[in-house]
Amino acid sequence: MTDLPLAGPLPAISEVPASSLAAWLEARGEPAYRATQVLAGVHRPEVTGFGAISDVPAGVRADLDRSFRFGTIRGSHVLEADGGLTAKAVHELADGQRVESVLMRYPGRRGAAPRTTICISSQAGCAVNCPFCATGQAGFGRHLSPGEIVDQVLHWHRDPWQALGADWRSGSRSGTYNIVFMGMGEPLNNTDRVFEAVRLLNDPERLGIGARHITVSTSGVVPGIDRMIEELPQVNLAISLHAADDVLRNELVPLNRKWPLEVLMAAGRRFAARTGRRVSLEYVMIDGMNDSLEQAERLAVLAAGWRSHVNLIPLNPTPGSRWSGTPPARVSAFAGVLRAAGVPATVRDTRGREIEAACGQLHAQLAGRELPAATRRGGRAREAVAP
Ligand code: SAH
Ligand code: SF4
Repeated sequence: MTDLPLAGPLPAISEVPASSLAAWLEARGEPAYRATQVLAGVHRPEVTGFGAISDVPAGVRADLDRSFRFGTIRGSHVLEADGGLTAKAVHELADGQRVESVLMRYPGRRGAAPRTTICISSQAGCAVNCPFCATGQAGFGRHLSPGEIVDQVLHWHRDPWQALGADWRSGSRSGTYNIVFMGMGEPLNNTDRVFEAVRLLNDPERLGIGARHITVSTSGVVPGIDRMIEELPQVNLAISLHAADDVLRNELVPLNRKWPLEVLMAAGRRFAARTGRRVSLEYVMIDGMNDSLEQAERLAVLAAGWRSHVNLIPLNPTPGSRWSGTPPARVSAFAGVLRAAGVPATVRDTRGREIEAACGQLHAQLAGRELPAATRRGGRAREAVAP
């Protein structure tokens, strides 16, 4: 596979298999170690183009530039909040599709290492059509390629303002970044490419992010959960539940008509039993919709007795939505019912609310707007938003 396509975009270096790169270099008479050197260079955070990989001969760098794309993202619009601890980017891809990613930094307290969570998209848009979700409302665009998925992580890795690369260089790589597939799209409707992206993120010659630091969130694609058990048993699974009976869930997560609660919960239990890993059950709390204590009791029955953990997330209302988030007192009462039944439950904070950080929201806000000129040239536009 050393021939390059005659038309269409060049292959992206972030998804070119190491063996293909090695063969391509060998065909140019380069020594075997060159592929490792190129990959190491591409992943050094300060390197922003093939020309900057200084330990590789200039002729090879020029050849790389003619034959591969250094990145699949044409430009990014970045909004920051919490003094830069939360940041959100809308990325424009080669064909003009736009996707979002979010960065959340947790400074290490009392000598502990800082943690960084990067939330990435798996599709442009989403076909599942959950009525409370801005991405769902926008409809399906297309699947993302493995390189387009990985490049969202590389965007933050290379961000000079965030300087994440310093943590990556000094810490154990495997624990430096946590990656969550909670941006736009349903990852298990794009399984082949998402799984390939996970393997690329894992690769010690690339970012070397450990599987245990990666979480796939699904609205309930059961065959995809079974593939995770077989192919990626060390990756964490989160199931977006949002309702504890089929009538309500059919409305909130329309995919429930295909794989109803009983079938979905059986898949969750299978995952926990086979992998020994705890499954997160995500529950977006919508005022007056799914937050009654009766729903809490039903949810407790679904979640009790196996390795599960409930995350309660007050709805981040989308513009024009008829729904709002459950008030804090009712969230606590709901959590109390779960805990009394022995089900571990955490109330999640809503970081980034002021920068439209919920799935698909910033994208919706910028839709139809030209991204600023700096962004279109491959640079970036930044805005700081006061809390
Ligand atoms: N499609 C996958 C992953 C992307 S959505 C899934 O649904 O799991 C990631 C999470 O964000 C899901 O749990 C989703 O329900 C939640 N979410 C979507 N819109 C939201 C909103 N407006 N407020 C709070 N959470 C939201
Ligand atoms: Fe798709 Fe997830 Fe949004 Fe539902 S919540 S529409 S599955 S991205």
